[in-house]
Amino acid sequence: MIDVEDLISLVRNYNPNTNAELIARAYEYGRNMHEGQLRQSGEPYFSHPIAVAAILTEMQLDDATIITALLHDTIEDTGSTYNEIADQFGEIIAELVNGVTKLTNLELSSTETKQAENFRKLFMAMSKDLRVILVKLADRLHNMRTIRSMDAEKQQKKARETMDIYAPLAGRMGMQWMREELEDLAFRVLNPEGRNSIIRRFISLQKETGDVVHKISNDIRRELDNHNIIADVFGRAKKPFSVWRKMEQKQLSFSRLSDIYGFRVITGTDAECYQILGVIHKRWRAVPGRFKDYISQPKSNGYRSLHTTVSGRDGKRVEVQIRTRQMHQVAETGVAAHWSYRDGHRVENPFAVDPAKWVSGLTERIETSDSHDEFLEHVKLEMYLDQVFCFTPKGEVIKLPRGATPLDFAYAIHTRIGGSCVGAKVDGIRVPLWTRLKNGQSVEIITAEGQSPQASWIDIVKTGRAKSAIRRSLRAADRERFVKLGEELARVAFEHVGKSATRKALKIAAKSHGIDDVDELLAQLGSAEITARDIVATVYPELVAAAPDEIESTRSVVGLSADQSFQRASCCQAVPGERIVGITYRGRGVVVHAIDCEALEEFEDKSDRWVDLHWHSGRHAADHNVTLNLTIGNDHGVLGRVCTLIGELKANISDLQFVDKKPDYYRLLIDVDVRDAEHLHSIMTAIEADTDVASITRYRNLSRAP
Ligand code: MN
Repeated sequence: MIDVEDLISLVRNYNPNTNAELIARAYEYGRNMHEGQLRQSGEPYFSHPIAVAAILTEMQLDDATIITALLHDTIEDTGSTYNEIADQFGEIIAELVNGVTKLTNLELSSTETKQAENFRKLFMAMSKDLRVILVKLADRLHNMRTIRSMDAEKQQKKARETMDIYAPLAGRMGMQWMREELEDLAFRVLNPEGRNSIIRRFISLQKETGDVVHKISNDIRRELDNHNIIADVFGRAKKPFSVWRKMEQKQLSFSRLSDIYGFRVITGTDAECYQILGVIHKRWRAVPGRFKDYISQPKSNGYRSLHTTVSGRDGKRVEVQIRTRQMHQVAETGVAAHWSYRDGHRVENPFAVDPAKWVSGLTERIETSDSHDEFLEHVKLEMYLDQVFCFTPKGEVIKLPRGATPLDFAYAIHTRIGGSCVGAKVDGIRVPLWTRLKNGQSVEIITAEGQSPQASWIDIVKTGRAKSAIRRSLRAADRERFVKLGEELARVAFEHVGKSATRKALKIAAKSHGIDDVDELLAQLGSAEITARDIVATVYPELVAAAPDEIESTRSVVGLSADQSFQRASCCQAVPGERIVGITYRGRGVVVHAIDCEALEEFEDKSDRWVDLHWHSGRHAADHNVTLNLTIGNDHGVLGRVCTLIGELKANISDLQFVDKKPDYYRLLIDVDVRDAEHLHSIMTAIEADTDVASITRYRNLSRAP
């Protein structure tokens, strides 16, 4: 066990101004708190936090991080509290220890690969301070190094987690060495035979060819000497897991695998890097397509290097990386990938904060600055601010946009769960449905049979998925309205052919449409799934076939005297099939209003001007202008789809104007010419069914009253 003096001197090596007194106090506090606790191996428990702290000194981290490592299990496993740590070591360290505890408490039971990415993002999102993740990774590294003392089942679980979550996380943080070590430790547990077979191949290969690494390194050195270039040359065999993964990915056998050795040439300047490249390419044949210039085009994480692969001794391919000492330092301080071609396909750095520049900047500061308090201090992880990650009771992670509510969560699991949601528990406590979810919360949805989506939910939910599901369902709930409407449409349609829509007639129609119940037939008619003409035709086929020609709009209204002309009022735009009334205007004939038009109010006590009217019962021409009021998502193609739809339904668009153009939606008025109420209704229903249409209504404008 590393004693307190050893630990302090490890820190002093890179940080002469360390607060040794504070570290000593944390050491003392941690040892007291963990007093009497043992690790599975039988060692005193406190040996673990010390080992974690020691790992972090290798990364030359600040006092707060080292102290956090010493205390990282106190809140979780001892009587210690946030307040006590804050009192003794300050708020910053208390926050850090608390952050590590939160990550420890995440139930990582569902470590399916597809969830792993979400877990990593959750880690980042929950760690406002980068140091929390650094401590957590070092914690995991030490646990993996000592995994042998755990029982077999736990070993498997921890190794799986490490492979899926922690190792890639270390890679993302630019700590490639840690990634490789974590992977290999996990590989040893998950696939010991696989790992052993790789190691055996390495041994037999070495017997066959001798120490290839040494030979090739010398070849390169000699070549550089011949050109008077000063550089260091390093070589090594790749880690068993790296080789294994390559074999899996490329479906290659070990003997056919080319780059199991990697070489690195480190020199002084950019120019020398390119010079060395030239020398190597001149001496050995370059493998086409393998040259990468990360000096002129650095990776987004700041990584700079030249990569090339050449055919070396006996035609064996070897990869060579060439970089300056400065570039190497950046890569070594945990900024870039060690053998980064493995990440070569990963073009994007998902971090908003650039950990590369960041860490190298900090390393500089620790050497130059007198005040070490600021070291790493202002570093906050501001990434994934637009997302929250929550858990199902089974431990599955659900990713939601920030501001999402339990209803969004419910709909994200399943539309059925969303639709029957009556309440939610967040971390075991009942909360209102409009509660905004936070990272790492566990959410349980309470459902009840008979519950159905409420109109008010539209304003509560944040996700499009939930919104459209609620809308769909509300539409279905309008069945009653559709039945009524269908009744009306059927009445008009049967009247067209001089018959009436009796229950009996409708029953016959329903049966021949394969529908059990008349109401269902009417609902389908009302929601424009079938047409009234169809229904009439099944009962009176000969009458429909003999239907009279279209009625010209000039004589579509019945009830006028011979000398009266008429026009449709533009306030309400009544169409055939709707109940109407006429109002006489001197010099302008009769104006036809819908019976429920508000413009009629001013004529209430002028009964002499009212004319009793109804529409001609025949088939009308499609020239009754109606204005529709639409709100649509500002998405490519929505408007086009709407217009196409109207055309397909044989209506003409006579005008179109934008009322409102916002970044995420448009409001517009579309004038269409329709045949009758049924035609209009089928158009509106079809448009409404488009998911990008937020609303569609008849536009009624009193100011247009004559
Ligand atoms: Mn621990």
